[in-house]
Formats: sequence, C-alpha cells, structure tokens
Amino acid sequence: MVYLTGAGPGDMELLTIKALRVIKEADAIIYDRLVNPQILKEAKNGCEFVYVGKEEGHHIMPQDDINETIYQKSIKHDIVVRLKGGDPFVFGRGGEEGAYLKERGVKFEIIPGITSAISVPAYAGIPVTHRGVAVSFRVITGHESPNKKSSQVDWENFKGDDTLIFLMGLHNLEKITKKLIQIGKPNNFPCAIISKGTTKDQKTVVGTLENIVELSKDIPTPALIVVGKVVELRDQLKWFEN
Ligand code: SAH
Repeated sequence: MVYLTGAGPGDMELLTIKALRVIKEADAIIYDRLVNPQILKEAKNGCEFVYVGKEEGHHIMPQDDINETIYQKSIKHDIVVRLKGGDPFVFGRGGEEGAYLKERGVKFEIIPGITSAISVPAYAGIPVTHRGVAVSFRVITGHESPNKKSSQVDWENFKGDDTLIFLMGLHNLEKITKKLIQIGKPNNFPCAIISKGTTKDQKTVVGTLENIVELSKDIPTPALIVVGKVVELRDQLKWFEN
C-alpha cells in the first residue's frame, strides 16, 4: 500500500492524525524538501528514507524517476508513504504519482494535507475570504512567466477575483505584479509575501502591487504571494509572528 500523504505547511502540529498514523507504520518514506524534517522522527526504527528534493517546481529527481521510485519501493515494502509539503494535490503532482501506481496495479490512498495556500496566510493573519471583503479566492501557479506565449494561465480571468494566491511565484514576482496592474488591478492594491509560513522563521512583508518587489527583496523561499483587500485585515488579525 502506498499513501500519497500531505505533510502540511511546516508547523509539525498541522499534520493530520491519519498522516501521523501512516508515518509511524511506514516501511519507507519518500519525501520532499518542503516536509518538516521533524516529522520524519516519528517513523519507526528501520524505516527507509528516500529524499527526492523537489524545489520550486525544479526537481533534484525528475518526476518520472520519482514515480518509478515510489513504484519500486511499493514492490519491496508493505507500507510506503509518499510525503509531500502541504496537500499532495495542490501543485504537488500527487495525481501523476497516483496514476502511475494505478497503471501498475499498486493500491494507494490519498491523505490530504493542510495546504500552504490557505494556512500560511492564516498564520500571517490574512483570511482568504472575509464577509464584505472577499467572496472568493483563487490559487495560481506563479511558476509560469506571465509573458510566456503558451501559458495555461489566463490572466484576464483574474480581473474579478477578490483574493489571488500565487504559489511558486517569488522569482516571477515582478512580472506577476506588472501583469496584474496591466489587467486592471490598481497600483496600490494590497499585496503580501509570506516566507517560511507556519514555522518559527515566518516573515511577512506587506505592500502594494507597486512597491512589493522592492519591499520583499532578499526574502527567503518557500514563500507565497497574497493579493487582495483581505491583506489589510492583518492589522486586526496578526497573531503569530513577532
Ligand atoms: N503542495 C504544496 C504546494 C507545493 S508548491 C501545498 O499544498 O502547500 C510549493 C510552493 O508552495 C512554494 O513555492 C511556496 O509558494 C508554497 N509554500 C509551501 N510551503 C510554504 C510555506 N511554509 N511558506 C510559504 N510558502 C509555502
């Protein structure tokens, strides 16, 4: 059995009870860079650890090799946990891994995790929806350059969205903010960058589409981008960071 498992955003206590159970039972754990290493200490003696260090959409190991690694471990062991940061189906490529296993007749289960997309803003005191402020939120990959011709991201669609959350977007921040202004968001529209969310190193920078690039220079990854009026609620709701 393979468990495609979400490890949550960083704070160890944001792991689900189900994830913790399978981690304790696992014969092998295949994990990513974004998984809090503290979680691995919960594994039993003799558990095999395989690091497949996925970073910002780039992989130390190509996805095909990761798929094959999971498959090979499933032949060798009874219980394999594929542990990923956040949720396995939110920009986690868990779907591809599941399909690969299914084709080969390997049984698997999905254990959803708390995605960084909503929990990291929450730890920064930013609710992704709020009565009277935002009735919707959209989670977008920031990995694709907005100028790319073949981009699957349809920027015009975001015009009417209240809250936009970009994952994997820090290196494209300048292009993203320019593009949002180009589709009609005001220059002074609120924007926040949250780095290392839910960990003791969490850092939040608040600004506008116009000045956030300058304000967030040198902020470390992983980081996500929140755009929308909900960012202003941080003044009232900030609770975690000093
Ligand atoms: N499956 C993961 C997302 C994988 S994509 C999830 O559901 O959370 C990786 C991106 O997630 C990073 O580039 C960053 O934008 C975001 N991210 C993950 N953990 C984060 C954290 N602790 N703080 C800030 N951003 C984070």
